[in-house]
Amino acid sequence: MRIDVVSIFPEYLAALDLSLIGKARQDGLLDLNVHDLRDFTTDRHRTVDDTPYGGGAGMVMKAEPWAQALGSVAEAGTGDGVTPDAETRPVLIVPSPAGAVFTQAMAYELAEEKHLVFACGRYEGIDERVLEWADERFDVRPVSLGDYVLNGGEVAVLAMVEAIGRLVPGVVGNPESLVEESHSDGLLEYPVYTKPSSWRDRNVPDILLSGNHGKIAQWRREQQLQRTAARRPDLLEKFDVSQLTKADKAA
Ligand code: SAM
Repeated sequence: MRIDVVSIFPEYLAALDLSLIGKARQDGLLDLNVHDLRDFTTDRHRTVDDTPYGGGAGMVMKAEPWAQALGSVAEAGTGDGVTPDAETRPVLIVPSPAGAVFTQAMAYELAEEKHLVFACGRYEGIDERVLEWADERFDVRPVSLGDYVLNGGEVAVLAMVEAIGRLVPGVVGNPESLVEESHSDGLLEYPVYTKPSSWRDRNVPDILLSGNHGKIAQWRREQQLQRTAARRPDLLEKFDVSQLTKADKAA
């Protein structure tokens, strides 16, 4: 998968050199490129923002540097300098508190894509015309990390690239570990424990030491349901009850 990130703070994305995502880059599983938006300006001051039409506080990111930067990465993604057609166009993710909320389901869907481009906004955001212009060459998706406001899109991109990147085949060594995670089946994950079995007068639940895999699986399922009901009842409302066994329902 190819990933391009455009930002006025490319150093922010240095964390993508670390851990599993960093290793996936070294192994060639993720071709991740970070670009400085200011490299696509033409004035002496490398200006990327201006005052908002209609007045109000703050500054707005200018359209032209974004068009130059996004045009450049769209063409680089095709590998032959040709503007991509509708079939092969990259997904342009525009982090925004006014976007659709990022979910695990979205991460799975985006992990199937060949080319993702992230446009990190700053200030009051990007001139709206950039999204209209980009619609002709990208599948444009404004995406929010959650219902709160960050200073810029970089933190959102770090979270999204990690969530998407770990679903790309080969990035996580044992793909089994992706199967039972929180949100993989619409529920939160069960509690987990490691050695020692007794720690500061607290014991690991006996069932986990029993060796009875059927009973352990049933206990974990019950814990998932109880934890989801306690912490995220909204998820239970959306949960597909046809996934429940008789024993689950009794729990
Ligand atoms: N004025 C904008 C609004 O109210 O919708 C907020 C702009 S915010 C200060 C600057 C940038 O941070 C945004 O353009 C976006 O890139 C990023 N950002 C802020 N909150 C975010 C969130 N919840 N999810 C994703 N990106 C966010």
